[in-house]
Formats: sequence, structure tokens, C-alpha cells
Amino acid sequence: MKFSRLIRSFEKLEKTSSRNAMINVLAELIKEATMKNIDKICYFVLGEIDAGYKNIHLGIGDEMAKSAIALAAGVNKQKVEEEMKEVGDLGEVAYKLVGAKQKGGEDFFTFEDALSVETVHTGLLKIATAVGSGSQEIKKKALAAMLESANPKERRYLARLATGEIRLGVGDMTVLDALAAAFLGSKKNRADLEHAYNICSDIGYVAKVLAKRGLEGVRRIRIALNRPIRPMLAQRVSEMSEIMEKIGSEVVAAEEKYDGERIQAHKEGTKVKLFSRRLTDVTDQFPEVVESVSKHIKAEKAILDGEVVAYDFDKDVFCPFQKLMQRRRKYNVKEYTEKIPVKYMLFDILYINGKSYMRKSYPERRKKLEQIVENEKYIDITRRVTSSELKEIDEFFQDCIQRCLEGMVCKSCADNSYYRAGAREWLWIKWKESYASDLSDTLDLVVVGAYAGKGKRGGTYGALLCAAYNHDEDMFQTVCKLGTGFSDKQLGRLPDKLKDAKRDRPPARVLVTKEMEADYWFAPKYILEVRGSEITESPAHTCNWREGENRGLALRFPRFERWRPGKASDQATSVQEVAGMFLGQKMEK
Ligand code: ATP
Repeated sequence: MKFSRLIRSFEKLEKTSSRNAMINVLAELIKEATMKNIDKICYFVLGEIDAGYKNIHLGIGDEMAKSAIALAAGVNKQKVEEEMKEVGDLGEVAYKLVGAKQKGGEDFFTFEDALSVETVHTGLLKIATAVGSGSQEIKKKALAAMLESANPKERRYLARLATGEIRLGVGDMTVLDALAAAFLGSKKNRADLEHAYNICSDIGYVAKVLAKRGLEGVRRIRIALNRPIRPMLAQRVSEMSEIMEKIGSEVVAAEEKYDGERIQAHKEGTKVKLFSRRLTDVTDQFPEVVESVSKHIKAEKAILDGEVVAYDFDKDVFCPFQKLMQRRRKYNVKEYTEKIPVKYMLFDILYINGKSYMRKSYPERRKKLEQIVENEKYIDITRRVTSSELKEIDEFFQDCIQRCLEGMVCKSCADNSYYRAGAREWLWIKWKESYASDLSDTLDLVVVGAYAGKGKRGGTYGALLCAAYNHDEDMFQTVCKLGTGFSDKQLGRLPDKLKDAKRDRPPARVLVTKEMEADYWFAPKYILEVRGSEITESPAHTCNWREGENRGLALRFPRFERWRPGKASDQATSVQEVAGMFLGQKMEK
């Protein structure tokens, strides 16, 4: 497929904010794809070049991109800097400048659609794989050469792809909807594709299997070593007694809930890979966990699920999440491994020696886990009680709180308590300590806009517009305007913190009422944790919007708690969860 064909769709996508229109544009594009390029098309529309977990990074920062544009355009870098100041987008600069040289009549430029989706992909992969000394120069020259052989419009998007700034606003679920529309007749048939995606975490692979083997092929996609599985998530309730009603089994297992980082470990012989909740490879961050899994899991091959928590070995207690955050680093890993040790608390097993355990019940999985984990300093199994009595579960919870844990996660022991990748269902229910506020839990919301600060807040933002994620619609719907809870320092830093997500118009897939129109807009990228007093109905916010009644749901008296860097925007609190909380509150009253 010619790259220019892909760009025709990019241009249409940029002009629309309607999700149905986006799905139609993408479905038309996908219908023209072949086995050779369908995966690449899916990655490109998401602004990527491969599945996220493969850790393939182009390594092209803004500075290098500017140098490459200068080289391709035959101008000095200063000229590129000046243009950048004026238009604020490297794609636009590449469009203008490299094109200018072309107009000058140098005959090695071709005006034809020289690039194809495949050649662009191969070129970008080459750039990504250049490492070691001299690699910076290789990357720069390779990008410059691609820009030179492209036509002006292609350059615009090449520069954006190379710098990770494609800005089409397309989400994973929208691509899956489009694949369903193109191959299965309607976006309504997304469920099977989504299930496969949850298991393999590679949208390009799902697309390829769908194109080659149809829906049956997609249904046969299985869990595989070294390919992360989307983690199963927990529901929440507003009263502890609801746990027993909702969980679907008489006997409930209540496990300790740790406040750390969700980590999935893949063991193959002595080799171990660790994946974060965002499905990125974080193996290098936790060398002691890698060694423990390698030596103390009694299985040749296994996929394990658990939480890595900072641990004080002198006092024999878990440390708060903030402590663990200091282990998120590329440099000085050894020093911080000693300074802030961790424990890997295992609570699930998904695969062992060639056999998937996803369709086994929780009790069976737990039994297997207990058989293969050798307790040791850095690795352990979650402590728990099993009971059909709420009183015993409550006692266990109180004990967890006494020991400064976050709370508990209750797990169904029913025969069908399978591991449901990527799903937030009633098989797992979390219960945390009710803090001082009325709301028993916080919300993780996505920043989509901001309002200019006045007076003391002049020069920064006065408040942020925050949204919940609507999974069915793959949209972000606003739920509050957040202005309290920030320290002066945090407030002052907001513009800088959010600057790479800044957009000059409301981003695609963000639904806002006229009343809430913001002064600044942000692509849904940054997540923060917010505490509020209650959920109310409101005509100002679009969360769980009810068309006929012209109102949605709003969080009252929101207060900033902390940033949540470990979460991707589609892992924010869902609109469906907010609606559940609202219903729960109504029942309490
Ligand atoms: P929260 O912000 O409440 O931690 P979350 O939105 O990050 O929740 P949830 O799915 O709502 O994620 O809560 C489950 C999370 O709790 C898991 O993703 C995991 O990281 C963590 N966790 C800690 N202990 C356990 C446990 N024993 N079983 C399952 N998950 C656990």
C-alpha cells in the first residue's frame, strides 16, 4: 500500500472528532490492506511501529528530528528552530522546509508517491535497531533520507511518526471496532477480537490472524511466553456485605492488598522477563525479582501474576507506594536495589510448562502456585483467609489495616472463577479502608483540559478538566473540574508536566459540554488519583451521559491525591464504575 494512501486516511481522521466516522475511515482503509501490511497499518494509526511490549523505540528526540529535517532540507538547524517556534509542530516544519528545497529544483527529489507503508515501516525499524557508537548519526541520516524521498504531505506524517507525535487520537478499541467492521460486518462483533487482544497484547498480530484465518483463527489465539497478558482487574462495592452477594461463590478468599506495582513474570528456563501493568518490559528495574523467579519457581516455564512492593527487611513491614516509585529508573539501578529493596508477592499463575491455566478456577490456580513457589527473601505468596462468613472476612480486613496494608482483594472460589484477562468483573472485588471522606474509594481520572489560572495562580492552571474512560465507546467523558489538593509547587509545575500532551483543539474521543469548554486541551495521557465527596447528576459533565435527560455524572468536591504514572489512559476509572458508585450511593441513602 502506498504511504500516500495511508495519509489520505490520516487527513480524514484528523478532521473528525466523531468516533463512528473514525471507525468508518479506518474500516475502509483496513479493507484495502494486505497480509503484508495490515499489522503495520494498525501500528501506524496508533502512532506506533510495533506492539508496545516489544520495547522497540526509535530513539529520535526533537533535537535529532530537527537535525534530520535540516539535513534533508539543506538548511541549518537554526532555520528549523525558527520555523518550529512559528508553527509548533515538526511535521509542519518538515512539510514546509523540505518541500522548499524541492521547489528549488534539485532533481534527486521525486514528486511521485515513492514510499509504501512497508518501506516506511522497514526504514523506521532500521532506525530503531541502530544502537551503539555512531548510532545517533545513522538514525539522523536515515530519517533525513526518508524525508528526502517523500512528497511534502508524506514528510509531514513521517516526521510525526518518527517523533511519536502522530496525534490522530485513535485508541486501541477504535482500531478493534474498525477491524470488526471491516471483517465481521459490524463493530458490534468486537468482543472476540478484544478477548484475543487481551491475551496477546498485540493489535497488529490480531489483525493479521483475522485477515489470514478469520474469526476462528482469532478465537484460537493462545497465551504465549514472553508476550504479556492484560491483567485481570477488581471491581469495587460500596458496602462490605455486597462482596458476598456479588462474588458468585459461597466461599470467598480474602487476600492482602498491597500498594505496589502490578508485575507479570514470564519464566523460560533461567530467563525471566517482567512486564508492568502498562505491558512494558520492566525486567531491568527489578534484578532481585528476576533472580528470585529464576531460582525459586519450581517450573521450567511459567507465567505468574503479582505485586512488587517496597519492603523494609529490618522491621519486616511493607512500605508505601511512594517508596517504590524511586525504583522507577533507568540509571543507578544497582544503588537503588540496595537502598529500596522489594518483595514480589505472587497471587496468580496463568501458564505452566506449556499449559494455559487461564481457564482453571482460582482455587486450582492457587494450589498450583503454592506447589511451585519456594519461599525466599524476595518472593512470597499473598497471605489470605477463605471463609463463607462475612465476620471472618471483616476480621481479616481489620488485621490488614492494622498492619498498614491497603486493604484486601476478595476472590471468587466458584468453578468458573477463571483468569479473565483485561476484565474488571465481580470475580475479584477490592475493599479498602474508608478514609475520612464519604466516598469509600478514589477515582483515577484522565486530564483532558485546563482553565487559565487567575490571581495567585496566574501563569499556571487554575483547574484541570478530568475525565473517566468509557470502555464500550472508547471515549473520555468528563466528570470534574479539579482545582484543590495541589501544593503550590505542584501547581506551578502543571504546565510543564502536561506540555507534551497539549493540543490546540479538543482531542478526538473527548466528550465535553459547552459549559465545561476549557482554555487548554490535552490528549488523554496523564492520569491522576482524585478523592471526592460524592457522585451527583449534572448537566455540566458528560460521564455516563443520558441523551434524553441531558445530564451526566459529576464528582463533587474533588481533591488531587497523586499522579498515577503506572496507568495508561484506558486504565482510568471507567464511566461504568462511576455509574456503579452513583447507584451504590443511592441505595445507601
Ligand atoms: P487501586 O488504585 O485501588 O490499586 P487499581 O485501579 O490500580 O486499583 P484495581 O484493579 O482496581 O487496580 O485493583 C487491583 C489492583 O490491586 C491490582 O491491579 C494489583 O495491582 C493490586 N493488588 C494488590 N494486591 C492484590 C491481590 N492480592 N490480588 C490482586 N490484586 C492485588
